[in-house]
Amino acid sequence: METHTWSQTQTQRLKELGADESALSQPYATAADRNLAFQKLEKQLVKSARSDLARFLTREGKPRFEQLRTALCDMLIAEGFAQVTTPTIINRAALAKMTITPDHPLSKQLFWLNDKQCLRPMLATNLYSLMVDFGRQKHRPIRFFEIGSCFRKETDGARHNNEFTMLNLVEMGSTDPDPSPADLLDRLKDLAHKMANAAGITEYEFETEESDVYGSTLDLVCSRTGTELASGATGPHPLDAAWGVTDPWVGMGFGVERLLMSARGDTTIGKWARSLAYQDGIRLNI
Ligand code: ATP
Ligand code: MG
Repeated sequence: METHTWSQTQTQRLKELGADESALSQPYATAADRNLAFQKLEKQLVKSARSDLARFLTREGKPRFEQLRTALCDMLIAEGFAQVTTPTIINRAALAKMTITPDHPLSKQLFWLNDKQCLRPMLATNLYSLMVDFGRQKHRPIRFFEIGSCFRKETDGARHNNEFTMLNLVEMGSTDPDPSPADLLDRLKDLAHKMANAAGITEYEFETEESDVYGSTLDLVCSRTGTELASGATGPHPLDAAWGVTDPWVGMGFGVERLLMSARGDTTIGKWARSLAYQDGIRLNI
């Protein structure tokens, strides 16, 4: 018997409104049955989104993204990390030090403002610069992180936004004067566990990936969906020489919207982006 499932437009609308996966795959005997069911379901979802929005506008608590941001920052500060704030606009020379020159894959994803300046696609350029300045201090380890917007021209919308929030942490130098690569990797994993824990993510694993910038990276991946949540690297690293960094280090960049999406069991990232279509995960055209 022929069955009818949602049209593409219906699926799209139901997804925007946050329908359950089970509701999205429901088959119907006729198109008329299906359309009737759609109307009913859409009405219910709109009603519940309207009450979510009313609560969002009147409640005292922070939106979920801000709750996550606070949880991550508080955890890192308690772990001895200093929070830094650096410019969103960076220059061509800094990118070149990361080997991002015109023939590099990432260079096609850059938003240029003029000949020399673009919106940062990553935090690492600025953080490398701080590693040098902070490195003049005597104590080790030196720990710091930044959380802020990064910009990349992307084509896949389910897991990518053109503007997203990265949290990049760096720990430079160790109490051990000569840590082994295995020690550094352990420390990187330890920090990744702490971040996943603070984000409320329990189902995750580590994967070794090839990166266009860092060579081999240690990725934190959501086990349920396979979505990459973070990429980390350790040094001494071939990029260090261009900046004058000589200490061993570990560093990892997390996509904060991806952490939120993963913690909440969502399959798309759009509703957690900076947006005019959603606030606090609630669809606004209701
Ligand atoms: P992907 O392969 O998923 O495009 P990537 O390896 O290019 O990601 P990295 O450069 O490793 O990304 O950036 C660190 C983290 O930032 C990623 O693990 C991911 O969580 C997040 N991230 C990267 N690009 C985006 C994007 N366009 N939108 C949302 N989050 C992103
Ligand atoms: Mg990566």
